[in-house]
Amino acid sequence: MQYGMIIDLNRCIGCHACAIACKAEWDVPADKGRNWVHRLGPAKTPEGLASTYYPGLCNHCNQPACVDVCPADTVEKTFTDGKTGQTKTMQVAATYKDPFNGTVQIDQDRCLGCGACADACPYSARYVNKDIVNEEIGGEGIADKCTYCMPRVEKGLQPACVQTCLANARIFGDLDDPDSEVSQYVKKGAVGLTSTAVSIGPNSRYYGNKKDMHLLTSTSTPTGMPAASLRRSLLARLKPEMKKVKNLGMLGLAGAVVLKELSEDEGK
Ligand code: SF4
Ligand code: SF4
Repeated sequence: MQYGMIIDLNRCIGCHACAIACKAEWDVPADKGRNWVHRLGPAKTPEGLASTYYPGLCNHCNQPACVDVCPADTVEKTFTDGKTGQTKTMQVAATYKDPFNGTVQIDQDRCLGCGACADACPYSARYVNKDIVNEEIGGEGIADKCTYCMPRVEKGLQPACVQTCLANARIFGDLDDPDSEVSQYVKKGAVGLTSTAVSIGPNSRYYGNKKDMHLLTSTSTPTGMPAASLRRSLLARLKPEMKKVKNLGMLGLAGAVVLKELSEDEGK
């Protein structure tokens, strides 16, 4: 199974109901978003004047750039297939791709809040929620992003954005099921936002008329993978020390100073 979402640009009316529903459902800070709607155009395209919207969210990518950079210690995690009950045990850091439903998730109890994953995402689909601090780990906050509303989906509900969309422009389902509505859209031509440099298998895909799709893909497709940031690479290298930083008072103080300086450097 690979969960995915289709956004039908022919139906989207840019009302932002999806983004608002998501914020309300998951208590997302006002200035952040797991889900967004950008207005595009009006602009000329080879097919004529176009004006559309870019409703965006995490793509739950097949090769997620966010997962490999996570510097948290790995732990053994057992995943269960909701359909067959089959299990699979894997080593995962604080963010991982579920081997059964294909979603990319964050273990917020183990997230260091370093922001490495947010830096690595070419779609800017992640942010660090500084309103929540993991007391035990003591980081700068906790990474957050769209989960495809898995806690709702596991109860048989639709993702909040899908349920709320007034125009039925968001469709959620299993891309591996050839009979699902999302697969039908893929057969009709729904595509993810990919380029030569960014081809990591996005599972949130877009469908629309030629001119709107031209406007969307020409303005909103990432053209390069984000460069490794100073903070990200140093934090990854400091990984073995972070546990000690957590546990030793003096070293913890020194670590906090180093990390603060790194984040200030990053902000410059
Ligand atoms: S869109 Fe970004 S955050 Fe989501 S899985 Fe892909 S790389 Fe990770
Ligand atoms: S709720 Fe539906 S119609 Fe409204 S902006 Fe979101 S995707 Fe578009």
